Amino acid sequence: MSEAEKNTARLFIISAPSGCGKGTLIAELNKRFDVYNSVSCTTRPPREGDKDGVQYFFVTSERFDELVSKDGFLEHAEFGDNKYGTPKQPVEENLAAGRDVLLEIEPQGAFQVKAKRPDAVSLFILPPSVASIERRLRRRAVDSGETEAQIQRRLKTVVPDIKRAYEYDYVMVNDDLDKAIGDLLTIYRLSKEGGAGLEKFTAAAMKNTIDEVLENA
Ligand code: 5GP
Repeated sequence: MSEAEKNTARLFIISAPSGCGKGTLIAELNKRFDVYNSVSCTTRPPREGDKDGVQYFFVTSERFDELVSKDGFLEHAEFGDNKYGTPKQPVEENLAAGRDVLLEIEPQGAFQVKAKRPDAVSLFILPPSVASIERRLRRRAVDSGETEAQIQRRLKTVVPDIKRAYEYDYVMVNDDLDKAIGDLLTIYRLSKEGGAGLEKFTAAAMKNTIDEVLENA
């Protein structure tokens, strides 16, 4: 078997509304598996504690546009007045080296990646409710200094984003933290092996849960 045939590295896409607690879940995945977390470029200003090159590469709008014109992004999108993009090269290099890659991106970007790489695994993490997102965003704003207008802009995208959950390969809920960690690890592990055993996490199987979150929004 050639080296290329032995390479089982997968590209994982995780989307979740901001304020859904996906950061905690992804940290648990990283504790257990060697996964490269892609670092995106963004034009949004850093929040307190954000370090350039760690959470994001913080760039100007001009620099962002230059990277777009040089075809430097695997995908890019606008979200809440800011631009976000996944640098292409590190993703390709890690996959070629046999390392799984994780993209934590919103749905517009997720579907751009899926169109280019249908073998990518896409996962949507649902909040238990839209009200729970609003509570978290407001709590976070106390530290980050986000204004009410910024919170409102983020909230505006929550329902439209959740409506796209139906199109993902897998969907899970972040309600009970221990259960959510277990679900994420299971989805990661089994999807690498082709997805057998993950029937209950398919978007079709999760339809009622997605409907319920949207009905109560
Ligand atoms: P935040 O400003 O809260 O860090 O991120 C806002 C949203 O942008 C989140 O839904 C996050 O997943 C998404 N995001 C972060 N990086 C990228 C990226 O490179 N591309 C796209 N399409 N979305 C991103």
